[in-house]
Amino acid sequence: MRNRQIFDQVSDMEKQIGELYQQLGDLKQKLSELLEENHRLAMENHNLRNHLDTIEEGKQKSSNKKKSTKKKDNLPSEGYDNLARLYDEGFHICNLEFGRPRRNEDCMFCLEFFDKTK
Ligand SMILES: [Zn+2]
Repeated sequence: MRNRQIFDQVSDMEKQIGELYQQLGDLKQKLSELLEENHRLAMENHNLRNHLDTIEEGKQKSSNKKKSTKKKDNLPSEGYDNLARLYDEGFHICNLEFGRPRRNEDCMFCLEFFDKTK
């Protein structure tokens, strides 16, 4: 009888450990989803900040067009360079999908931006 009780207890523990293990797996899965999401948002935030910077820069340029002397004269703006680089690195720079990965496809809206600025 006593042995039987011990056996039952061990079986219970085994079951509980199994459930805990399962919960641990679920949590781990959720954690990795959160980390991925976090990474994605950080990237998007980073890209959007760059975009904001380029907009701010554009505003400053148009507000003191004649003052700007530091920058090399006839080259396209730094903001343009940043966007071009972003596009080269594989991100959208168009309004529709700004900051999202392009998955190695050209985007006609992004390309339109290049046409406009050239
Ligand atoms: Zn695009």
